[in-house]
Amino acid sequence: MASQFAKKFTVDGGKGFSLAKINPRDDSLFDDKEKAKAQTAEDAEAINQLQDRLYAEGGRSLLVILQGIDCSGKDGTVRSVFNACGPIGVEVTPFKVPSEEERAHDYLWRVHKACPSKGIIGIFNRSHYEDVLVVKVKKLAAPQAIEQRYEEINDFEKMLSDNGTRILKFMLHISKDEQAERLRERVTNPAKQWKFNPSDLANRKLWDDYMAAYETALKRCSTPHAPWYVIPANHHWVRNAAIARIVRETLEEMAPKYPPAVGWDPKSVVIE
Ligand code: AMP
Ligand code: MG
Repeated sequence: MASQFAKKFTVDGGKGFSLAKINPRDDSLFDDKEKAKAQTAEDAEAINQLQDRLYAEGGRSLLVILQGIDCSGKDGTVRSVFNACGPIGVEVTPFKVPSEEERAHDYLWRVHKACPSKGIIGIFNRSHYEDVLVVKVKKLAAPQAIEQRYEEINDFEKMLSDNGTRILKFMLHISKDEQAERLRERVTNPAKQWKFNPSDLANRKLWDDYMAAYETALKRCSTPHAPWYVIPANHHWVRNAAIARIVRETLEEMAPKYPPAVGWDPKSVVIE
């Protein structure tokens, strides 16, 4: 994809990639906040129209993976980028601590089941990447098992891609200070207290470990068929504008078409 947005944020997987070099406050692609917000609304409407075609065409799907530390804005992204889409044809799946049944299977089992069927845009709030992030940081699996997962994930995503699923992966990159501010807001605002989990504080203490695990996953699993994008996410409006633009451009590139009438001629149909 050629746009300046996609180019600027793609993880190239090379040795030079470093998360620490990406400024979470970056707003340099946008010269005006209000214009960027208007552009996001326009892109969301274009996404809605493209989604309708994708659904009608019924042959391919789009999978959007959202990852990021607590408070990075995963839910907010879904709300603003897909808010113009009707509920038909869009499926959001959050991935939580695996249930007993999920733990009794391989780690991709629950993920594969949730992948979008033909015609659908699937959005993952967290994903199989938790199995090389939280699982690595908290040592919930053997190091050798985790080490194998990067290639397993690449193979899995290649298989999805070969079978008609376009994949976009966004890491919402916020600074540690910004997370502190958002956690404080969750603690003090009664409308947000439900989002706070005391375990978020334990995770915050492991910030550096999480960033290291993210960096490894981004480097090893950014592929031509399933690229990773690191999105500066301290500013909600930058995050929304960047993601809406990349999703829109990807759908435009896919160019889904309304299927023509087959086996009947619209001109000869008479409705009395
Ligand atoms: P939230 O997104 O705030 O609802 O939190 C979901 C929690 O589930 C996060 O703390 C994730 O790290 C955790 N989680 C998601 N997937 C896994 C997994 N495969 N293994 C362990 N914990 C997970
Ligand atoms: Mg949470």
